[in-house]
Amino acid sequence: MDNYFSQFNDKCIEQAFLHHEMVPILEKIIDNNMRIYSKLKDITLDYGEVPKRSDLHLLLEDVKIIVDTFFGVSKIKAPTVDYKRILERGLQFSDFSDFLMFFPSAYNILRSKGHYYDISEHISLKKEPRGSLIPVLAHEYTHHVQKHKFLFLPYLLEGQARSVQRHISGVYTERENNPTFLSHNLMHFDLPELKVAYLWLCQKHDIAPKIYLCQPQTKKEKQYLRIAEKFKEKNTKPNYHMMGNAFFSVLEFLEGKGIHRDIISEKYQLPSFF
Ligand SMILES: [Zn+2]
Repeated sequence: MDNYFSQFNDKCIEQAFLHHEMVPILEKIIDNNMRIYSKLKDITLDYGEVPKRSDLHLLLEDVKIIVDTFFGVSKIKAPTVDYKRILERGLQFSDFSDFLMFFPSAYNILRSKGHYYDISEHISLKKEPRGSLIPVLAHEYTHHVQKHKFLFLPYLLEGQARSVQRHISGVYTERENNPTFLSHNLMHFDLPELKVAYLWLCQKHDIAPKIYLCQPQTKKEKQYLRIAEKFKEKNTKPNYHMMGNAFFSVLEFLEGKGIHRDIISEKYQLPSFF
């Protein structure tokens, strides 16, 4: 692929991520996140109600405004949205490319908290209370925004979707004066994923990770850090979400959230030191 987006293919991103400057920056980000999380962890979380099926489209309208503003896009027609059904659309062959692409992990689609079907432009969600559902809805809607641009660049797709989750968690935390959104995102996504990516990076550079940055604070982190222990032995690496999240967290730290707007409008170039 020789176009603007080729600089974001998985190979280029992985190469840039392996730049030695990434290590101290990622350490700083994880440290910041741990500080924020430790202030929130004793607060009683209020995840709110599970939205009614008939209200999902209204929730999507709201999320869409926030995400469209984040990317600086307009005139995007909203996808449809619904809770998962036992027989998912993709699995009924209405989205043949989805089906083919995800066939080995069809089970994962059914198990996951959300999925975006690109052919039928449909978002499918697991029933969850607002505090955990809204970030997932924003994540899947991001894939709708990305659809016409770069459908096959997994690190970029998932990295940006994680950035949007982070952003919308902040927006809802402030708007509803409810830190559940922020805490949930740190606990389930940013902290475990960034720590795994950090450990992989340290292994690649053959340096000792900072012990306090790897100490698991939650059950999910414990579970994820076990994955990291196996990287060397199994010759594996962090998945798209982990790598994408870590890479774009670093870019945002260096250059601000505006990079996403510039990427979508094809103006942003990766810094030359990569
Ligand atoms: Zn995704």
